[in-house]
Amino acid sequence: MRTILSLSSWPLVFFSGLLCTYLAFASERPMFGFALVYAGEVLLLFLLERYIPYERRWLLSDGEMANDIAHTLLTKGLVQLVALSGAVFPMFTAIVLLPLTGAQLDVWPTTLPMPLQVVLGVLIAEFGLYWSHRIAHERLFFWRFHALHHSVTRLWVINTGRFHIADSLFKVALSQLPLFLLGAPLPVFLWLGAVTAFMGILTHCNVDMKTGFFDYIFSTPRLHRWHHSKDIREGNTNYGENVVFFDLLFGTYFNPGRPSSTDIGIRGQIAKSFLGQLAQPFRKDGIRQILGRSTKSG
Ligand SMILES: [Zn+2]
Ligand SMILES: [Zn+2]
Repeated sequence: MRTILSLSSWPLVFFSGLLCTYLAFASERPMFGFALVYAGEVLLLFLLERYIPYERRWLLSDGEMANDIAHTLLTKGLVQLVALSGAVFPMFTAIVLLPLTGAQLDVWPTTLPMPLQVVLGVLIAEFGLYWSHRIAHERLFFWRFHALHHSVTRLWVINTGRFHIADSLFKVALSQLPLFLLGAPLPVFLWLGAVTAFMGILTHCNVDMKTGFFDYIFSTPRLHRWHHSKDIREGNTNYGENVVFFDLLFGTYFNPGRPSSTDIGIRGQIAKSFLGQLAQPFRKDGIRQILGRSTKSG
């Protein structure tokens, strides 16, 4: 039973999520429907974590749950705002960005079937997601924001959304602006949001999932655990958010034939409180703590 669950849980959660999202988007209240689907998948992963955990130790509290949820809500709230301003944003791009970039709007292939448009949207957004993530690891200026996400010592479904708001803004800008500039329609953004949401809870969940050949297409829990490794040679890899295409292309794909790391975290220190965590990257001593330069263990 455990083996069957282990083999089937990744495709089960991901594809049932997409199918139920399709039904939700076709319903009278698409956003409410999607929220229900998302909550259902979180609950399912929460239960699987208790039944077939990847690392038993990660079931124990790290005292960060309230902060994890607060960061998630702040970031989700921001995404909602961006979605709300969806009507205003194309106008903003047309008036402000187009004269600056000389880019052309409305080149999006709207005649393609929606699933193909979504695949195209996911791939284009992934280019920005990959580079914003890679830059966040390779440039100290950006790492000071991204370190919050990596400061956890356990991975579980609840800390999926633990991102500093500045980190999220950077990511959203690099991944979604190209789609706006190309004139992608709203459903493509909504589907991109859905795919990213399911992929996010899957990559962070503490469920012993066997993902096999999915590891060469999608960002799976196995690959993302390596990305959270404390050892920088293992951690500065697998930047893909939804797919691993750009990791394979740019040589950052890492998937050795052994169980992925459970020694995760960073060398630096992150503030204890939610507001402290938000302010830390903007304070000089805070940055030193994040980089581990003010502590002896650093
Ligand atoms: Zn990262
Ligand atoms: Zn992560």
